[in-house]
Amino acid sequence: MQSVNPYTESVREEYDEHDEADVEEALSRAENAFEGWQERSLTDRRRLLADAGEVLRENEEKYAELMTEEMGKPISQARSEVEKCAWVCDYYAEHAGEHLQEKTVKGPEDAETYVRYDPLGPILAVMPWNFPLWQVFRFLAPHLTSGNVGLLKHASNVPGCALAIEEVLRDAGYPEDVFQSLLVGSDQIEDIIADDRVRAVTLTGSGPAGRAVAEQAGRNLKKSVLELGGSDPYIVLDDAPLDAAAETAAQARTINSGQSCIAAKRFIVHEDVYDEFVEKFVEEMEALDVGDPMDEETNVGPQAREDLMSDLQEQVDETVEMGATVETGGEPMDREGYFYPPTVLTDVPRDSPGECEELFGPVASVFRVESEEEAITLANDSQYGLGGSVWTEDLERGKDVAANVESGAVFVNELTKSDPRLPFGGVKQSGYGRELGVEGIHEFVNRKTVFVQ
Ligand code: NDP
Repeated sequence: MQSVNPYTESVREEYDEHDEADVEEALSRAENAFEGWQERSLTDRRRLLADAGEVLRENEEKYAELMTEEMGKPISQARSEVEKCAWVCDYYAEHAGEHLQEKTVKGPEDAETYVRYDPLGPILAVMPWNFPLWQVFRFLAPHLTSGNVGLLKHASNVPGCALAIEEVLRDAGYPEDVFQSLLVGSDQIEDIIADDRVRAVTLTGSGPAGRAVAEQAGRNLKKSVLELGGSDPYIVLDDAPLDAAAETAAQARTINSGQSCIAAKRFIVHEDVYDEFVEKFVEEMEALDVGDPMDEETNVGPQAREDLMSDLQEQVDETVEMGATVETGGEPMDREGYFYPPTVLTDVPRDSPGECEELFGPVASVFRVESEEEAITLANDSQYGLGGSVWTEDLERGKDVAANVESGAVFVNELTKSDPRLPFGGVKQSGYGRELGVEGIHEFVNRKTVFVQ
């Protein structure tokens, strides 16, 4: 398994993959670890999680640099990611007690009835490279604290991050084998899901990967949670605060060099403010610093892998061939590293990749609409339903639009972002189930009814 620096295009390290015997041993260790771990008090598990947050804070620079080297995210954003991981540790360290407390539910008058939240066992997490620490911490913080043990199959281009997460937990004092990274390719996942010792699976990634994992989980009657792609609408109404909307639009499209499931991707703009918005938006996109991800000033780094950049290029080329106009950007940059510039496309035709597919890079598709109703119809005319934003001076109007957009989250006058306190997930082809908040921690527990006569 190779870790390639997408800025220098050079191999930074090679790792031995785990073979079948290694995986067998890991599964058996996970099963054994679960015995002791579920017996530990919740107070102990919460304390260890808080300690993991401290380890992250103490080593922020080291882990931020590792992410930047492995997948190219700008260093300032990498630091924020480490801090956010520490935040999710703090959140569940503080709130897992209340989230997992037995809940009295009224049944027959003469019986005592309540629900307990018991762990399931080893849970497999198949995770992507785009937020290589955050995606894993948002899995492990709730689900280890509820008493499950974790098996991580991280994306093949971030093995260094996979091992670093094991290190954080080891340094925090977690018992051995409560969390293990499996350095395996996706072809080994089917057997792991089928193994009786694995009780459930969660995946964050593309639709095809999600479909494969969901099929395997279904065949084995195992619970799954999927967080897949998105093509989030960013609706700018005729009364939107345009300066703020345009500035945030550029950030929302290019965060993590455009490689985020909840990045704004389809900009749906009312005709009354269309020209002014597009002008401001293009200005904001052109003002971003593209370059060395280790540079403090950089806003947009390279794409994480060469194939991801060339796939993006094909999607843009096809959209332009079908009739779209390139307002800025539009082709890979002629320099070392997998650089694709901030790009704005207008006149994006129906059924072109820019309209109906997810563009996983810093490319914005802009659409002109005549009314709020048309904006909502276009927003919902997508296979995806992850997040979305609406911009308006009238908050009640914003809430009405939010009620009508088919997605797992809508933000009024803000970009879509995850927060440990709030449930996160999608509808339609963006997946099912929720992460974070109280809903997230309840995904992988046995909600057991107890009836005492
Ligand atoms: P993938 O979905 O292929 O990878 C995500 C994870 O799933 C990786 O760990 C990968 O392993 C694993 N995986 C892939 N195929 C299977 C399978 N059949 N069975 C089990 N596990 C599998 O994403 P890519 O890296 O190829 O990115 C492609 C596209 O996916 C992006 O352009 C974007 O549209 C979307 N994506 C969405 C993300 C999100 O946050 N929702 C995150 C990343 C990508 P391995 O690396 O070994 O292939």
